[in-house]
Amino acid sequence: MILVNENYQRLQGSYLFSEIGKRIAAHKGEGVIKLGIGDVTRPLPPAVIDAMHSAVDDMSSAQGLHGYGPEQGYAWLREAIADNDYANMSIGADEIFVSDGAKCDTGNIGELFSGTCKVAVQDPVYPVYVDTNVMAGRSGEYDSDAKAYTDITYLPCTAENNFKPALPSTPVDLIYLCYPNNPTGTVLTKDELKTWVNYAKKNGAIILFDAAYEAFIREDDIPRSIYEIDGADEVAIEFRSFSKTAGFTGTRCAYTVVPKALYGVDSSGAKQSIRDMWNRRHCTKFNGVPYITQKGALACYSEQGKEQIKETIDYYLNNAKIITSGLKKIGIECFGGVNSPYVWLKTPDGMGSWEFFDKLLNEANVAGTPGAGFGSSGEGYFRLTAFNTEENTIKAVERLSALTL
Ligand code: PLP
Repeated sequence: MILVNENYQRLQGSYLFSEIGKRIAAHKGEGVIKLGIGDVTRPLPPAVIDAMHSAVDDMSSAQGLHGYGPEQGYAWLREAIADNDYANMSIGADEIFVSDGAKCDTGNIGELFSGTCKVAVQDPVYPVYVDTNVMAGRSGEYDSDAKAYTDITYLPCTAENNFKPALPSTPVDLIYLCYPNNPTGTVLTKDELKTWVNYAKKNGAIILFDAAYEAFIREDDIPRSIYEIDGADEVAIEFRSFSKTAGFTGTRCAYTVVPKALYGVDSSGAKQSIRDMWNRRHCTKFNGVPYITQKGALACYSEQGKEQIKETIDYYLNNAKIITSGLKKIGIECFGGVNSPYVWLKTPDGMGSWEFFDKLLNEANVAGTPGAGFGSSGEGYFRLTAFNTEENTIKAVERLSALTL
């Protein structure tokens, strides 16, 4: 029998959502309201639906048929992305790679870098960044007491530092930053993000910037892209997705920006273009997002599409506001929910994340997500999301308000 990749044995079970499912299933009460949903619930924008219908019709004739497209995405979509999302930034269409998801891209990007690279992640964190580095052999062993991998640098994000991680105190090569953040719902200002860009420049590090929730940004001075910071194209890769922006979680379309100005070195010290490496990888391992889906994504940039997307995001943001104001009224400290669909609350009286989960489920018939499931710095916190209906969100907040804390 052949030897397997033993790095997989270091992976910790994806315990969080299965445990939540188990506890909800064991719960006797009827009609649990799930404010743990990380998936969208509103329909696709009508402009997207129309564009996809018409793309289906294109496929019905020999002339209109689209077979394999360019692996990097059709030029019309890449150009629309560059013109709309990167206007006034130094990003061109040939630095944009369309894919079927930010999850795959944030997971696959590690292939371009040496197994010896030191990785830093925020804590709490979107688990994909950690697990894919475990698979690649960069994590070291799992320390079950510390609930952390020995070779990963964790950057705690807690109320004490206003969820803004301190710069690493030991050298790191790859830094995953996610803003607006999942799970905490918090953001960085332009100046704060600039500190990270400067750090990366000074230390020869690369920032992997996950902006999957960019469309939820409503406040001024919150960068929508890391390339709003001068010189970031020399040190950063950016991930974006139509999933949360336009409800594409089941439709699947995203893109990654890998600037031409971004270089690594090989062991002889010769510079290597990261953009060219990603292009090579993408063309070798990926055969493009479906034409129909890309036409749907293109419609997101039409005037109608933009308006409809804004309406849907406003709907979710209103739910977030219902949650944050409800929590504040009953004296629960909470964060996020302003430029994000996620509300991150501090559990009352120092309760553990799972203890609070059980209390909420048993006494209020509401389910959320224990913060501890996203990393040890998430202990004592809890995530509620704005993706349920307004009606259910209001009902859930009423139930929460009746809790005795
Ligand atoms: N990045 C973050 C931070 C996410 O929370 C998610 C989904 O929940 C993704 C990426 C996945 O995006 P996609 O649907 O494009 O794979």
